[in-house]
Amino acid sequence: MQAPRLEIKNIVKSFGGRRVVDDVSLHVMPGQVTCLLGPSGCGKSTTLRIIAGVEMQDTGTIHVDGQLVCDTIHRVPPEGRSIGLMFQDFALFPHLSVGQNVAFGLKKGRDVGARVQELLNKVGMSRYIDDYPHQLSGGEQQRVALARALAPRPRIMLMDEPFSGLDDRLRDDIRDETLEVLKGEGTAVLLVTHEPGEAMRMADEIALMRDGEIVQQGAPYNIYNTPVDLKSASFFSDIN
Ligand code: ADP
Ligand code: MG
Repeated sequence: MQAPRLEIKNIVKSFGGRRVVDDVSLHVMPGQVTCLLGPSGCGKSTTLRIIAGVEMQDTGTIHVDGQLVCDTIHRVPPEGRSIGLMFQDFALFPHLSVGQNVAFGLKKGRDVGARVQELLNKVGMSRYIDDYPHQLSGGEQQRVALARALAPRPRIMLMDEPFSGLDDRLRDDIRDETLEVLKGEGTAVLLVTHEPGEAMRMADEIALMRDGEIVQQGAPYNIYNTPVDLKSASFFSDIN
């Protein structure tokens, strides 16, 4: 069997004595999209921040391609984890052009220009290479943010509700395009969302979270058809 790209085991995090991440274990396979799905406040973003390394867990381990990235003793810093980030509040740098934004995380060298072009082509934004973020629409900024996150070829992409700020009209298109680009790059993706419809549309696998715990992980079809309990069933019933 193929080894997971990302595996987290028994992650616990408390704030002020309250366990907001309560013994969470999940995995993401290479080239696949796993959705961490659950209602607002259940601990999704905290889990993602722990994986990214910007928050420290109380206990539990994180492995990337079988290598220990973080436990309570060892800790690889965020920039050493080969993780790309697309967060709601993780905007483009306003003072940098589109091209400079995409090049930002790349080591200086001859291939930078080619890689920036390649990514901007993939997200359909090569015409805008010299424009600045304020000249772009929300959807266009999102495409550039995707190109920027993918430029250093991260082994894992962490995405926290990246489509929530977009118009309904745009959202489906951007979701489809994003999926196509991610699949093309072969990146393993952990996508956080509170919308069952988004998870059903985008995920190869869903990890369903509630009150800090993963209550079920499996194929979208199985989770939808065989919910573990009434709460899960009703959560899926307002699918759109
Ligand atoms: P979600 O992303 O699923 O909406 P979060 O991970 O953002 O949930 O938050 C889970 C819970 O942890 C919430 O009740 C939130 O208020 C709390 N929380 C998150 N970060 C902190 C923090 N730095 N200090 C205290 N409480 C926090
Ligand atoms: Mg959140």
